[in-house]
Amino acid sequence: MHPSTPRPAPGAVPTPLHRRRHARGAAALAVVATLALAVGGMPAAARPRVAEKVPVAVGSGGAVATVDPEATRVGLEVLARGGNAVDAAVAAAATLGVTEPFSAGIGGGGFFVVLDGETGVVQTIDGRETAPAAMGPDAFVDPATGAAIPFPEAVTSGLSVGVPGTPRTWQVALDTWGTLSLRDALRGAERVARKGFVVDETFVSQTAANAERFARFPATAELYLPDGAPPAVGSRFRNRDLAATYDLLGRQGVDALYTGALAEEIVATVQDPPVAEGVTGVRPGLLETSDLAAYTAPLREPTVVRYRGLDVYGMAPPSSGGSTVGEALNILETQDLGALDETAALHRYLEASALAFADRNRYVGDADVVDVPLAELLSDGFAAERACLVDPAAALVKPLAPGTPDGDYAGCGTAATGGPEAAEGTSTTHLTTADRWGNVVAYTLTIESTGGNGIVVPGRGFLLNNELTDFSFVDGQGGSDPNLPGPGKRPRSSMAPTIVVQDGVPVLAVGSPGGATIITTVLQVLVNRVDRGMDLAQAVAAPRASQRNRAAVEAEPGFPREGLAALGHTFTETAEIGAATGIEILGEGHFMAVAEPVRRGGGSAGVVDPDPGS
Ligand code: GLU
Repeated sequence: MHPSTPRPAPGAVPTPLHRRRHARGAAALAVVATLALAVGGMPAAARPRVAEKVPVAVGSGGAVATVDPEATRVGLEVLARGGNAVDAAVAAAATLGVTEPFSAGIGGGGFFVVLDGETGVVQTIDGRETAPAAMGPDAFVDPATGAAIPFPEAVTSGLSVGVPGTPRTWQVALDTWGTLSLRDALRGAERVARKGFVVDETFVSQTAANAERFARFPATAELYLPDGAPPAVGSRFRNRDLAATYDLLGRQGVDALYTGALAEEIVATVQDPPVAEGVTGVRPGLLETSDLAAYTAPLREPTVVRYRGLDVYGMAPPSSGGSTVGEALNILETQDLGALDETAALHRYLEASALAFADRNRYVGDADVVDVPLAELLSDGFAAERACLVDPAAALVKPLAPGTPDGDYAGCGTAATGGPEAAEGTSTTHLTTADRWGNVVAYTLTIESTGGNGIVVPGRGFLLNNELTDFSFVDGQGGSDPNLPGPGKRPRSSMAPTIVVQDGVPVLAVGSPGGATIITTVLQVLVNRVDRGMDLAQAVAAPRASQRNRAAVEAEPGFPREGLAALGHTFTETAEIGAATGIEILGEGHFMAVAEPVRRGGGSAGVVDPDPGS
């Protein structure tokens, strides 16, 4: 990753992405950056100006968008001191582990998508959790009843814990593209953990929603239920144990967690969950220290589809994010959405999403273990066969059956109903960073449920994931479910960190939490931005709807339904879907960073040097 010349473009006027043109240059800014870091200070002029939750920021010098002001501030400080987008992403993610501990942290996993500003190449890190070697396909079947374990019982257990992928992801990211050591990248987060941050309503409501199960585990209760209750809004929250854990990782490297004392503590916690006196029924897990020692976070090829002249890069299996967003875009590209009225365009969006979900549920799992026809799922031929089913005058009856991605796409596929529906949680966090050298990161990370499995590793300050509940508990597909548990297998994800490129130059990056709704949120933001005349801030703020091959569309208040209902779509109301963040690259070194204005209490967007008046 090389620096390139920053030169602000004239303004943040929303123009069609496909009309943008950028050039890449090179300069020796890295030297200046290193010096600034070496003296340990930050020039006043470069000090990032973000303190509060700001949903939109426009300017230059680099950009960060996260759900949290502390994380955005820490990421911007890294950029201002000369770190690149990868350094900033790791620093911001580590901070989210402190301030958004119920969505992300070193006990979980995620997917890191990065565009190298020098080469224009997009690569990804698969930091997904893995199942223990001892986990077989019936792991979530109760031997006593022969039925699937009740979902909540599986969530709050040792059984649901996969080998955490996040620490290894950070190390791989920094080793491959970063300029900071892990120790330096963790410094800002460690400080926030030690000095504390101001508790907001989202933190309190997430704690309160988990209070009953947190109380079952003394280590969790001690940290998150001081005096037996969630901390007050406005109080200062410190996590000294996590500060010490970050310090340990900084000094010893992430092997401290994969092969050191921490590995043994994680395994002990999973195998014998440390419950409060009198608590019973918390199932133990199968994790061994050998599972942690064997963990890798491999670099994987991204998915890519071409959409209206743009290259849309996403996350390949074990995530279904890239393949499902990609297939839906391919289906949508058969129509000129921009020429359609709102109802017709949204009808296409909902139908494309349902079709892509039918195929995702049938075909996508961990491609290292099962055969995923990824190239066919992302082919224009398959998309044409699926698009052919869409009736402009009426909604198809859901759930739709999957198509046949077999390379033979002569006719119109079958619209038969009866595809499987999948259940998933709704937590996670997404952050986006970009720097003045043209590097861009889209990073989604999670511990699965809000609050993960509810169990803090005693004395270490972080929650464990329940990611293995993303596996199918039983095969509802007659022997063909690609997402059953298996030894060393990675559960299918919906995370969809996405980077959009034009002529080799990044123009947009976006992602969201929200379980399977991640896919529809990312898809809707892209359609809003590319086809529906919105700028990125409007595209993120617009009311959302999610059709995941279910009978009814989940929709937020404000999503326009009348015309769609007349076509046969039915709706269930949900307060909010997702919590997206994104960055649009407006010109060389000039950015619009975007976070949610309202959802989940609002996010935090920032740039290193804001435009005057922005
Ligand atoms: N575990 C989910 C996935 O990987 C993400 C968690 C969520 O956002 O609900 O798709």
